[in-house]
Amino acid sequence: ADQRRESLYVISARAGKFFQDVMWNTEEGKTIGLGYFRERGFRDDVLKKFELGYSPDSWDAFIETALKEGYKENFIEEAGLAIRNDKGRLYDRFRARVLFPIHSFTGRIIGFGGRTLKTDKKVPKYVNSPESEIYHKSDVLYGLYFAKKAIRDADNCYLVEGYADVLSVHQAGIENVVASSGTSLTSAQVRLIGRFTKNITILYDGDAAGIKASLRGLDMILEEGLNVRVVLFPDGHDPDSYVHSLGSAAFKSHIEKNQKDFILFKTSVLLKDAGNDPIKRAGVIREVVESIAKIPDSIKASVFVRECSSLMQIDERSLITELNKLRQGKL
Ligand code: ATP
Ligand code: MN
Ligand code: MN
Ligand code: MN
Repeated sequence: ADQRRESLYVISARAGKFFQDVMWNTEEGKTIGLGYFRERGFRDDVLKKFELGYSPDSWDAFIETALKEGYKENFIEEAGLAIRNDKGRLYDRFRARVLFPIHSFTGRIIGFGGRTLKTDKKVPKYVNSPESEIYHKSDVLYGLYFAKKAIRDADNCYLVEGYADVLSVHQAGIENVVASSGTSLTSAQVRLIGRFTKNITILYDGDAAGIKASLRGLDMILEEGLNVRVVLFPDGHDPDSYVHSLGSAAFKSHIEKNQKDFILFKTSVLLKDAGNDPIKRAGVIREVVESIAKIPDSIKASVFVRECSSLMQIDERSLITELNKLRQGKL
């Protein structure tokens, strides 16, 4: 079984090298793949560090190369690099896409995210490697290998939605950044971050989906006993687009000025719809208490009870009563 896993690592590394070769050394790769990344503002040193590449517009460019070099069909298929059609023939999964290799936290390539260059809405924007014996999506964070030292040094981890966000934030000089690409945040991913720091700052996209994912993510983080803050971006922006349109100094100051603890974030988001309606305000308070109830450390929880009480101008005792009810429900 270890040998099978090793074979999957080896073919994935070979694919990574192939896609890099194509991007840096072929006409198609340079014009289309490298051209695309440069157009988006990524520096060459960042492209090289993250081992980004390009898969040519062909059904079998990679598979042909791999078979010629003696790699076995079944490993190429199991690594998710090729797909078998109804006639039993293999074809390349990644075609005419720029590729973001996904690294294990020890730095080995375990999968890929491939972005189309087409603007056609019918083509899926990203195609990702499927699960394999070496790639378990729910246990992997994109960028962690390049971020872990910086996460320890800063004692904080920035969490973004996408591959491009990781690259741009990293390029802006903030290297403690990872993404939960391809899945919504899992408890295993939070525990993985927890090995390096107890503090996470969520930087999701400034749209309805990003806000919803932030609310879900913060509960997940609290549940695992970590501390969480959230920064909201202007609607239509994600960290990548913000950095590239306003620059890294503006990006950093946006984070400094707008990071909120979960109480402030949740109330500011939920109160927008509640206005002065007392019943709706009570609903907001209840939702905040539900998040506080997820915190395993009761001393920490009581600090947040106090914050919520003063922010919402509500008696601390009634919050504690509700908190205890929720806690008992969990037992
Ligand atoms: P870009 O900046 O390149 O347009 P993005 O990262 O901003 O991409 P989003 O639409 O915000 O793209 O999606 C966030 C992340 O969700 C992506 O980076 C990718 O990991 C994942 N994702 C997006 N679309 C798909 C898809 N069709 N299939 C699978 N994963 C996807
Ligand atoms: Mn989005
Ligand atoms: Mn985005
Ligand atoms: Mn984006």
